[in-house]
Amino acid sequence: MPIRVLPPDVAAQIAAGEVVERPASVVKELIENALDAGARTISVEVEGGGRRRIRVADDGTGIPAAEVALAFSRHATSKLAAAADLQHIATLGFRGEALASIAAVSQVQLVTRAAGETAGTRLRLEGGAILAREAIGAPQGTVVTVENLFYNVPARLKFLKTEAAERARIDALVTRYALAYPDRRFRLTHDGRLSFQSSGDGDCYAALVAVLGLDTAKQMLAISPQPDEMALSGSSKGIKEIEVGGYVSVPTLSRSNRSQITLFMNGRWIQDSHLSYAIVEAYHGLLMAGRYPAAVVFIRLPPEEVDVNVHPAKAEVRFRRPDAVFGAVQKAVRKTLLAHVPVPEIHPTPTWSPSQPVEQQVPLSAEREPTPWLKSEPGGDDAPRSTLETARELPLLRVVGQVGAAYIIAEGPDGMYLIDQHAAHERILYERFMAEAAGKMVPSQTLLEPALVDLPSEAAATLAEDLELISRLGFAVEPFGGTTFLVRAVPALIARLDPAQALYSAVTDVDLGEPPLAGTREVQIIARVCKSAAVKAGQVLAPAEMQEMVRQLEACAAPRTCPHGRPTMVHLSTAQLARQFGRLG
Ligand code: ADP
Ligand code: MG
Repeated sequence: MPIRVLPPDVAAQIAAGEVVERPASVVKELIENALDAGARTISVEVEGGGRRRIRVADDGTGIPAAEVALAFSRHATSKLAAAADLQHIATLGFRGEALASIAAVSQVQLVTRAAGETAGTRLRLEGGAILAREAIGAPQGTVVTVENLFYNVPARLKFLKTEAAERARIDALVTRYALAYPDRRFRLTHDGRLSFQSSGDGDCYAALVAVLGLDTAKQMLAISPQPDEMALSGSSKGIKEIEVGGYVSVPTLSRSNRSQITLFMNGRWIQDSHLSYAIVEAYHGLLMAGRYPAAVVFIRLPPEEVDVNVHPAKAEVRFRRPDAVFGAVQKAVRKTLLAHVPVPEIHPTPTWSPSQPVEQQVPLSAEREPTPWLKSEPGGDDAPRSTLETARELPLLRVVGQVGAAYIIAEGPDGMYLIDQHAAHERILYERFMAEAAGKMVPSQTLLEPALVDLPSEAAATLAEDLELISRLGFAVEPFGGTTFLVRAVPALIARLDPAQALYSAVTDVDLGEPPLAGTREVQIIARVCKSAAVKAGQVLAPAEMQEMVRQLEACAAPRTCPHGRPTMVHLSTAQLARQFGRLG
């Protein structure tokens, strides 16, 4: 084929693809426009996960009648005049691409009236072309309705996730903006049903709960605002006007990945792995390796310190002095954490050097969650041990006692065993659950009173998709409208768990330590609920309970590791002990 310049509509579609990836991108751009227009109230109505319809209404400045059509041409913006302006952008938009891009791949209707004008304007577009325009009466502000997204880009449609998944993305977006703009009122509906709203009175707790879930939100520490010390001391490396605020999780709460770290820079939601790392770094010594905090961090700094013109979707930025920003974030978070907990002193090895180091070191877990330890589990006595009698993995152990309410000391034929009670119990529950799941039906326990459980929207979306799978695993759960579910029964093995916690743990990885487990969805769900139901560090166990746990661990096929591969025990052989005390070579 000869080289030729693409027809404008094809070029427009290609360009649109960079800005509008999915329904949530449309919502993002329209919310940003409303915020830039000074709106106090922003209402987002979504139908069909955003594919059928997205409507964003604001009470901002509106668009003057003379500029309405222009707003939809590419690179048309009121936020930027000259190239030099790019160096200090204080608005969320500036590229003049969003409306043009959205219009290129959907059917759009815009109704707007600018402050000071008597009549409003209605404009209709399809595939970027203006179909109709008329003057109408309208309140001040702007309403953009986007219908049939990607109707003319079938390739894009194929990449969209399920309606529930797209809804969840929109929920995540709107709640995060509500969190960053607590003085604006946000309202979000899906198919006519209210999904989220914020008061706009400056209190962001409701948004924090919506973003993180109630349990996590309760465990967040507010970052105390503090000036950048380096800048104040006159160091050229500091940024004087940098401000870091927001919320970080207490060190006892952790996640298996960084997905719960949210960053805002000058009111813009950004992705920045370097800064995420600054937050993780601040937890050094407080979290186990491979564990991550939850955080919502707002950074404010002079616009000229940052280049936001890196990517069409504006989710990535470049800092002029990245190290200064990194340092400011890390310090602010660290200070907040230290004010809450003193750093524990960890001496993993004795001060004198043993001739032979201990083979394995149990990681020091920071988990301290009071959950009732399952005293007697259903089916506890007829656990499958027969096959294991032949090829025993563990010798018979005698429990000696408990240390730190976290480890069981036991004696075996060859020395001492230090058992991590949480990891061990996790292993026990996991093997039993897997054995039950391999059978026809997982025994379930009907609740005396069905429980209504409200889940964070992302968890609710996951559950909606996994409903069938969950019921095969012994849950009886019915959708109860919105993000609420009715729990009638839970797997018998974890029946002592609060039904809300049981369900929540099945669909989120809140408690899942360690790298993600390979395996089917089913295996992952089983691992999660077992982790959640397992006795935690911090619980004092009675001798009989410890003996029972050790007996059950002996019966396991793979007693030496938890389902994620973390050791359940450390073995100090008689020979090692003797060496440590200088009795042997
Ligand atoms: P950008 O936001 O980068 O300027 P857009 O394509 O999103 O580009 O919008 C183009 C222009 O239309 C904006 O610069 C602004 O002047 C106007 N505009 C868009 N949405 C709104 C709104 N909700 N309220 C007022 N003006 C708007
Ligand atoms: Mg914009």
